[in-house]
Amino acid sequence: MKHVVIVGGGFAGVNCARKLGENPDIRVTLLDRNNYHQFQPLLYQVATAELGVSDVAFMLRKILDRHPNVDVKMVEATAIDPVTRTVRTVQGETYQGDFLVLAAGSQPNFFGTPGADKHAFPLYSLKQAEVLRSRILAVFESADRDPGLIEKGALNFVIVGSGPTGTEMAGALTDMLNGALPPEYQDLAIKQAKIYLVDHGHAVLAAFSKESQAYAATQLQERGVQLLLGVGVSEVGPGHVSLSDGRKILTHTTVWAGGLKAASLSDNVGLPRGRGGRIAVQPDFSVPGFAGVYALGDFANIVDFDGQALPQLASVAQQCGKWCAENISAEIAGQPRKPFQYFDKGIMAMIGRNAAVAEVGKKRHELEGVIGFAAWLGVHASLLDTNQARIEAFMEWAWTYFGRTRGSQVLDRTSAARINWDSDDAGPSTPTASS
Ligand SMILES: Cc1cc2nc3c(=O)[nH]c(=O)nc-3n(C[C@H](O)[C@H](O)[C@H](O)COP(=O)(O)OP(=O)(O)OC[C@H]3O[C@@H](n4cnc5c(N)ncnc54)[C@H](O)[C@@H]3O)c2cc1C
Repeated sequence: MKHVVIVGGGFAGVNCARKLGENPDIRVTLLDRNNYHQFQPLLYQVATAELGVSDVAFMLRKILDRHPNVDVKMVEATAIDPVTRTVRTVQGETYQGDFLVLAAGSQPNFFGTPGADKHAFPLYSLKQAEVLRSRILAVFESADRDPGLIEKGALNFVIVGSGPTGTEMAGALTDMLNGALPPEYQDLAIKQAKIYLVDHGHAVLAAFSKESQAYAATQLQERGVQLLLGVGVSEVGPGHVSLSDGRKILTHTTVWAGGLKAASLSDNVGLPRGRGGRIAVQPDFSVPGFAGVYALGDFANIVDFDGQALPQLASVAQQCGKWCAENISAEIAGQPRKPFQYFDKGIMAMIGRNAAVAEVGKKRHELEGVIGFAAWLGVHASLLDTNQARIEAFMEWAWTYFGRTRGSQVLDRTSAARINWDSDDAGPSTPTASS
């Protein structure tokens, strides 16, 4: 019986494990630092208290419990020997396979921006979403106790990066400010809250069409987001953000949605790396020169069978996980591996209540507003792992959507609530949208 070791229980790793699990001649060990699979596309809804943790975290053992030939180990991989296909872990164990699948995903890329790694709140993992939620709730609680903190930027939110993550986060924050919070914080001047979306590019949602970009920008501005485009972030401090044009925004909540690179494990895999530190793979996901080693999802630079570089998307990771499993089964059966053919469902981003943009299919048919919102819901429901997960997430969602309430306003990461309000009270020069 052949043994496949998979590092990473994200969209790529889970789908690969599940597909391999259908083959009774294969034994799989799936390694992940967490005992759950996290659903990144909905993390911004955890950060804004729209969904709870259990709506976006699914137990790996439960997801895979129909496959007795798949074992899950909760370990942190620290290094790989690609020649012997061995994984070393922080706990001191080793796992060796006939095949090794590397699917460890991404981590935030701060591009060397001073202070960003220390003071900004990234949004890539469930833990980070919980910490950010606690910080958002903590600034409201603090300003409610002491309105003087508003002068110190307590209710200023700066989001760095206007791709889908930054845009969705900005939109969800406006929903929070305009919907759930005012009746709950009756003494607080919530109208003084400001949301800035900063990007050195000149448009929001750069990967989308001009029409979608214009729609998204208008929707965000109508909801109260101030767009600071064509300007970079030069520094993030504990109580401010400095912009490349010399302006400074007082804030204690800087959300980093400014870019991603391969997870840190890629520093210790002994394999050639490309853009973003991702592993260079052939179109069938095999790593050239290392028999039996594959890399997938966000951890790899993937090209389609027609040579097109594919984006870091859940649907890419999901499909390549299944495809890689088929290639491993083919290799075991002595058949040729096939180059990946991506079925492109399109790209989409949620802007807020009843507003989303979706460019569906390879031809990028554009949908906006309520129809875009419905398309977004449909595609993301198909990414959720089980029917139970879909029903639970959508029940919770419907509850907050129609009730205009937030069910998960739990300030559970108390370290995020410890804010030194005097760490940055130098001269405010908060920009306006037009400045
Ligand atoms: C905020 C956000 C929103 C997004 N929204 C969308 C969206 O709307 N639609 C869309 O298609 N895509 C979206 N994406 C992108 C999508 O989530 C990723 O492309 C996808 O998760 C990649 O899957 P993966 O399996 O390669 O990696 P991941 O899903 O990141 O999984 C990697 C796994 O590896 C584990 N791991 C990492 N390092 C180690 C280690 N050293 N040891 C053990 N385990 C390790 C991690 O715990 C994790 O479980 C979004 C991403 C983010 C961050």
